[in-house]
Amino acid sequence: MADKIYDVAVVGGGPGGFTAALYATRAGLDTVLIEKLSAGGQMTETAMIDNYPGFPEGVDGFTLGAAMQEGAKRFGCEMRQSEVLSLSLTAPSKVIKTDAGDITARTVILATGAVHRHLGIEGEGALVGRGVGYCATCDGMFFRGKTVAVVGGGNSAAADALYLSRICKKVYLVHRRDTLRATKIYHEPLLKAENVEFKWNSRVVELLAEQKLTGAVIENVQSGVRESLALDGLFISIGRTPETALVKDQLTLDEAGYVVADETTKTNLEGVFAVGDVRTKPFRQIVTATADGAVAAHFAEEYLAQQ
Ligand code: NAP
Repeated sequence: MADKIYDVAVVGGGPGGFTAALYATRAGLDTVLIEKLSAGGQMTETAMIDNYPGFPEGVDGFTLGAAMQEGAKRFGCEMRQSEVLSLSLTAPSKVIKTDAGDITARTVILATGAVHRHLGIEGEGALVGRGVGYCATCDGMFFRGKTVAVVGGGNSAAADALYLSRICKKVYLVHRRDTLRATKIYHEPLLKAENVEFKWNSRVVELLAEQKLTGAVIENVQSGVRESLALDGLFISIGRTPETALVKDQLTLDEAGYVVADETTKTNLEGVFAVGDVRTKPFRQIVTATADGAVAAHFAEEYLAQQ
């Protein structure tokens, strides 16, 4: 196994990774994909995806992940379920050390994604999918006509609150400061939206639930005064952490830790590409990740042809 040299090793089995694997194998490249958990990555957290084209009735994340994996396998991509322990990316032969042995490849497509930051309060994990969510674009439709809160003050929280204000009866925006960090473009429409109420200088200290979320207790960080909000949904939009710990000493990262790569998905290292949520980009969605996967396979093919 260690002697074999693949053309392409894809690290991460989300939409970006599977699309890269599909395009690479379909182009005749000897490809392996390594994923430590189940197929689909972050998609598997989403019960219903209805903004991925081709599924007029929507599709759940597990089904879409499994279908993407099958698509790549159909053309001969080798799938490995193992954990990557380290990557050596600087030499022409890239070595990926996993808990099931080493893998060597001429190119690496990094598709490790990013994880939503959690508030870290009691009950948060257990209520995911039962009122607590991290992606308004994905799950907002379930709260049509209902009352929700968004936590955070960055562009994600502002965009989520604005998006939800068009769907929901009432949206609270709970932010720990007295001003948004989000770009000005969001301020005016948010302030104008009659169903958006700002809860400044506030943090969520408790989740209220009976099987599913019923509300949240927020605390004013200056006065210490607490208030209960009756809620159907709570969207936690406090940023994400990209999965770049294993490559941080080899790849150029931006200040938030994302791999710096433009629309070509090329990183600072020859033969190494970054796709999907792990890459610097303005809009992280399944469709934008799949698009990256196709682009990365194209440039990997081009790079291999030049060797
Ligand atoms: P972000 O810019 O890092 O903002 C995170 C927000 O969450 C901040 O307001 C922060 O508060 C708050 N926060 C962090 N940890 C918290 C905690 N434990 N409890 C309560 N609040 C907490 O993250 P983001 O909004 O997800 O944006 C990430 C990147 O994507 C940014 O570069 C952003 O510009 C980009 N983005 C762009 C767009 C767009 O342009 N349309 C849309 C979405 C995202 P503080 O302000 O107090 O630190």
